[in-house]
Amino acid sequence: MPSFVCIGKDCNYETSAATESELMVKIAEHAKTVHHMDPIPPEMMVKVKAAIKK
Ligand SMILES: [Zn+2]
Repeated sequence: MPSFVCIGKDCNYETSAATESELMVKIAEHAKTVHHMDPIPPEMMVKVKAAIKK
């Protein structure tokens, strides 16, 4: 099950989902509400994808 620990500074949000695409939806929602990234910038998306544990 893919999981993600937020790479944001001073943020310890953790999430997991059945599939990577569901996980991306959760990450996008978190990034929007907590980090005011709407959408997530491409260079941050690269880091986010690298931080996903499969
Ligand atoms: Zn976060």
